[in-house]
Amino acid sequence: MADLAKYAAQAGNSKGRLHKELQSDYRDEYQRDRDRIIHSAAFRRLEHKTQVFINYKGSMKRTRRTDPRGVSHDNIFHHSEYRTRLTHSMEVAQIGRTIARALSLNEDLTEAICLAHDLGHTPFGHAGQDALNKSMADFGGFEHNMQSLRIVDSLEEKYAEFPGLNLTFETREGILKHCSRVQARSLGELGKRFLHRRQPGLEAQIANIADTIAYNHHDIDDGIRAGLIHFEKLMECMLFRQQYEAVKKTWPDLTSNRMRHEVIRRMINQQVSDLIETSQENIAANDPRGIDEVRASAEPMIGMSNTMQTMNMELKRFLQNNLYQHPHVKAENKQAKTMVRALFAAYSEDPGLLPQNDTHVGCEKKIADYIASMTDGFAIDQFNRIKT
Ligand code: MG
Repeated sequence: MADLAKYAAQAGNSKGRLHKELQSDYRDEYQRDRDRIIHSAAFRRLEHKTQVFINYKGSMKRTRRTDPRGVSHDNIFHHSEYRTRLTHSMEVAQIGRTIARALSLNEDLTEAICLAHDLGHTPFGHAGQDALNKSMADFGGFEHNMQSLRIVDSLEEKYAEFPGLNLTFETREGILKHCSRVQARSLGELGKRFLHRRQPGLEAQIANIADTIAYNHHDIDDGIRAGLIHFEKLMECMLFRQQYEAVKKTWPDLTSNRMRHEVIRRMINQQVSDLIETSQENIAANDPRGIDEVRASAEPMIGMSNTMQTMNMELKRFLQNNLYQHPHVKAENKQAKTMVRALFAAYSEDPGLLPQNDTHVGCEKKIADYIASMTDGFAIDQFNRIKT
């Protein structure tokens, strides 16, 4: 990778992998990390996991198409093509890479972290996580961020020589966005920054904010298409209003589809631009000589201006009150929690229901791993099975 800034993560100076490996002839360490993530089973499962809207099978549209040879195929669409964890992760990676390249930081590492950040997510989005966390209360709890790390460190079964994907320290550092002090103590070098209030590398900081930018905006998009939030109400948010009025002025007769996309596109662009410029100023002011000085800093250097942060908070609050707390979403979440709790109870009562009949001590963690790995559809099927 050409001309990286001196404070960028450099594949040649990585803190390395847990298990030593030979170098690749053609790819550097972060390219390999990204590729391992893309080839993982957990990554593929993200396709059928909820972002905000649950992918119930009943809400899929099935159509048939006949190819030129006269063979007919089933085409299945999720209703309205809402975001899934997979498309969300890809949008995060797109935003992250743009920012990384503009700041001469490591694009491959940023992409790897973005693609892996939600690997540990349960079915049914945050509702699923909250329910599993409750069921696991007496057994150390459950947190999707820690689970993402657990997947890449030990649960993926890909290599003969070691468990997990054996990713570099920098990718793992980026995946672990937050953790408790107790957990931090059990994580060795990786947990240190949480005990000493230090920062991860700039690529990890980018992935963190790219996640927020991506979900705020695609949730507006999905929320409008689902009919749960509306342009008129969104005008309460300065970020939306500014762009909406600007677009309306130039194109007063735009269809609602094009209007929605044009406004959201501009909102993302405005925030990414602000983020790049503000981060450039922060980096210049701190003048780190390398990634170690970035890590030693008490405050992150990747961030938005104060004005943008305030407008962002307003947008977040709006989504919280009008979308995530919408009666329709709440009803779906309630149902999701019931299913996850019922699954956990059923497997605890009869571990024979687990795929590998695993009854030794610490079985709860295996149950949590199993439930967390499920896609929405699989969890619904399993719930229906234990119910009957
Ligand atoms: Mg995310």
